[in-house]
Amino acid sequence: MLAIRPLPAFEDNYIWLLQHGDDAAVVDPGDAAPVLAALQIEALHLRAILITHHHRDHTGGIAALRAAWPQAVVYGPAGETIAGVDRHLHDGDSLDVLGARFTVLDVPGHTRGHIAYYAAAESTLFCGDTLFAGGCGRLFEGTPQQMTASLTRLRALPGDTCVYCAHEYTLANLGFARLVEPDNAALLARIERDRATRARDEPTVPSLLALERATNPFLRFDEPALLDAVAAHTGQRPTDDAASFWATRHWKDTEYD
Ligand SMILES: [Zn+2]
Repeated sequence: MLAIRPLPAFEDNYIWLLQHGDDAAVVDPGDAAPVLAALQIEALHLRAILITHHHRDHTGGIAALRAAWPQAVVYGPAGETIAGVDRHLHDGDSLDVLGARFTVLDVPGHTRGHIAYYAAAESTLFCGDTLFAGGCGRLFEGTPQQMTASLTRLRALPGDTCVYCAHEYTLANLGFARLVEPDNAALLARIERDRATRARDEPTVPSLLALERATNPFLRFDEPALLDAVAAHTGQRPTDDAASFWATRHWKDTEYD
């Protein structure tokens, strides 16, 4: 099994450090400094860099890491142009990272070429800025239909899948979730627990996919309770999943953030 831990970066990013023996890999290194420090302190060898999408806070460290570790392989989405990527990945491609087999999932919406990395045997999903704990990424490039399809794909993964997203946005996301579903008992329990976690200055990520299905409004576009909430808020009952998703996303974008 891989050991996986977060390296905090910038305000609220997590760069994920994967370790197996003396070997390491990182996901979405927006900044090289915390990665280089962690590698040096523990005398680890960087073997691979996994990139989910082109945003600078996920890619800014590639050049410095390549310079320090020329042997490391840099993986990224085929659908986006990212300097320093060696292997351009398509949906369904598989890759071996420190002995673990990952499958590539196309999950457009936040950006057009966004990909996720899923390791079934490790119950591990690196989903970048597509799915967050309690929320989802903004639609900078994709359509509501694309994002709904991407989130539908991710929520179909096994419930014990650990969701490693790239930001600590959880408490703010759950605040919006409670606005939408004030009577969701699983959500209220989660808020208590995650507040306590943050009070201890610990990450709320990874979360479990089963918990996301029960509490994340952006995975609940077809739940009666969510459809009722959207209908009450907008005065219109959504006619399909994408309309429900988009009404919820628009609600958060315009009245909560
Ligand atoms: Zn992003």
